[in-house]
Order: sequence, then structure tokens, then C-alpha cells
Amino acid sequence: MTTDIKSLTREELKAQFKSWNEPAYRVTQLLEWLYARRAANWDAMTNLPKPLREKLRGTFSFNCLQLVLKQGAHDTTQKFLWKLADGALVESVLIPANPALYGESSDRHTLCISTQVGCAYGCKFCASGLDGWKRNLTPDEIVEQVLAVERAQMRNAECGMRNEKSDAPKLDTPHSALRAPRLIDNIVVMGMGEPLANYENLLKALKILNAPWGGGIGARKITISTSGLAPQIRRLAAEPLQFRLAISLHGATDAVRSRIMPVNRKHPLKELTAACEQYQIQKGRMLTFEYILIAGVNDSIEQTKPLAALAKKLFAKVNLIPYNTVEGLPWKRPGETACEAFLRALEKQKVPATLRREKGGDIDAACGQLRLKTERELPAR
Ligand code: SAH
Ligand code: SF4
Repeated sequence: MTTDIKSLTREELKAQFKSWNEPAYRVTQLLEWLYARRAANWDAMTNLPKPLREKLRGTFSFNCLQLVLKQGAHDTTQKFLWKLADGALVESVLIPANPALYGESSDRHTLCISTQVGCAYGCKFCASGLDGWKRNLTPDEIVEQVLAVERAQMRNAECGMRNEKSDAPKLDTPHSALRAPRLIDNIVVMGMGEPLANYENLLKALKILNAPWGGGIGARKITISTSGLAPQIRRLAAEPLQFRLAISLHGATDAVRSRIMPVNRKHPLKELTAACEQYQIQKGRMLTFEYILIAGVNDSIEQTKPLAALAKKLFAKVNLIPYNTVEGLPWKRPGETACEAFLRALEKQKVPATLRREKGGDIDAACGQLRLKTERELPAR
């Protein structure tokens, strides 16, 4: 399998260009095409000499994600289902920070990205793991999610401007050659897959997305979510980049956690907490606990006590997320009153906590749901 051009760092490209006797500024031009202009093919790179383009074409692949399905309205949560070069499906979800409730346009955009096709961790409540693990995403497949969403949004803007009269600046350049500012300025690695089980590719992709010559997205604006792979959390703590870390806790005792998350039997709370403590000491207040509220499983007020104790110990804030029902799974979301009571009990214990009014719940935006549905509904491809 040939390496994709978007799996390479600037240093690797420099070494390659040097071995070809190409001047260093050609690397800068190439990177500009890839990450600032979001070029979708070699031919768009008009200021690179043709022989160089041919050399690149012959050495590296240049894959772009193919949009299979897009759900959701412009300016609210939008879900993208992508087909990869081998036909596998993954999802990304675009979440505007201000969901334009009063007609204003949303400013910041967060993109939720996937890191694997399927997931091997088999959490009992999750759609991503239902059909098991297929493969890791390569660095370029992770990076491309950001570029492909931005390409799709730019295309939208272009079409919109052609179709309606608008005050917005005219986009004369085709989307594949436009040097527009980055639309996405926040990344959450919370899509399909367990990111820390694809550690090398994840880190390489995040370095590219963070680098000034690449995505230019601040490390503190990148959150990695994990089901609790303690050894990899320790490894991440030793990395120089200051990524935020979200722990999918969902249970504050081993009994509750092991019932819904098999990973807890391998890395029980004591081990997970110790790894998180190392992360916290190394990085400061960068931890969040994700806590899905599932009726009758982890939503009793008693559970707030061990949860508050853990959060305080690790200076973590708690994100409460009412469970998003998955077709074929027995779990249910608690009523609104129960969710509010759980939140208040945490606040009473002085734990910073939020209760998410699940954005995108109505468009199957919870992890893995759109892919699962599509895999099951589309005829075999
Ligand atoms: N594997 C990683 C990241 C992907 S899952 C992890 O587990 O952290 C992203 C988040 O979505 C996790 O917190 C996960 O527990 C949560 N999630 C999975 N299924 C869900 C559902 N049906 N409703 C709400 N959240 C869900
Ligand atoms: Fe995998 Fe995360 Fe889903 Fe668990 S919650 S099955 S680790 S994607």
C-alpha cells in the first residue's frame, strides 16, 4: 500500500524533496495546496512543475474522502458519512458552537472525528462496537475528515451564493483552489473507534492538524476521548503537546463500570485513576469525565458521591450526557427530572458539571449510529 501524501509531516516531505534535489520552497508550496487550499487532486497544484507533480503522483497516493450521506441542516449539527478508499464507512460530526438559535450565524465550529472503522472495545451501550473492529484509520484518513468537511461546506457556500442573492463576498475561485480561513477550530476525537488503540496514527494526524504548516489548530483545542486505556494515557501524558483528555467514565464504581464497559475489567478504576492523575500532574486541568446517564444503570443519586470524589481528586469537570437510544439495544435515557437532579447533586458537592442537551441526537449523531444504520440499510456494496 502506498503512503498517502497527507500522512507525511513537513520534515518527512523535506527529506523526500531533498532526495529528489527539489528546492525546499516546493515543500511549502505543496503544504499550502494541501492544508490551506484543501486541494483535492494533484492537477490543482498549478504552481508545482508538471514533472514534480508526476513524481509525487507516482510515489504517493492522494485520497480524498467520498461523501456518502449528509444529515442535518446548515448552521445546526451536521453529520457526514464518508466512504474510504477501500469502501469502509466512517463518520464525522460538525457542531456549531452557537447553534444559530436566533438566526445569527454560528461562529466557532467543532468537528468530531473518527479514528477506527468499528471498535473492538464493545461497550454495551454503543453502536460503534456492535459489529466489531475492522481496521485503524491511517493518519491521512483522520486528517482528511477536517479537510473534506471544509471542502463540502465551501462547496455549499458557493452553490448557495450562485442560487440566492447574498451580501457575502463572492467566491470566484473554485472550492478546490480557494485559500479560505479554517472553518473548524475545535476537534473532538469522539467519533467511531477507540483513539488510543490507534495511538501512532492518531498522534501523527493530530501533529499534522496542529502544525502551523498543517491544520493550525491549537493543541488545547483538541480533545481526545478514551474509554480508559490506562497505559496509553500515561504515554500521552509524556507527549509534548497539550491535548485535552476526556475519559468516558460512565460509572464511578468498578461494579457499575464493568457492567457496561468491558475495558474496565482490564484497566479497573484504580489503574485508570492513577494514569489520569499522572496526566493531570503533567498537563494541569485538562481532564473531563464524560458520563452518559442511562436509566437504572448509573443515574441514581448515590452514584454522584464516588463520581464527585473522583472528579475532585483529578480536578476534572463532568459532562453529563443523556443516553441516546440505539436501535436493538435495551438501554434507555432517564427522564429530564432525573438528569437535572443528578446534575444538581454534583453541583451541591462543588463539582463543575454540565448537562448536555444532546445536539444531533435527532440525526443519529451519537457515535457510530449513522454508519450502523447505513451498513444495515444499504444493499451490500
Ligand atoms: N472510544 C472513545 C471515543 C469514541 S466514543 C470513547 O469511548 O471515549 C465517544 C463518546 O460517545 C464516548 O463518551 C461514548 O461513551 C459516547 N457514546 C457512545 N454511545 C453513545 C450513546 N448511544 N449515547 C450517548 N453517548 C454515547
Ligand atoms: Fe468503542 Fe468508545 Fe464505543 Fe466503547 S464507547 S465501544 S470504546 S467507540
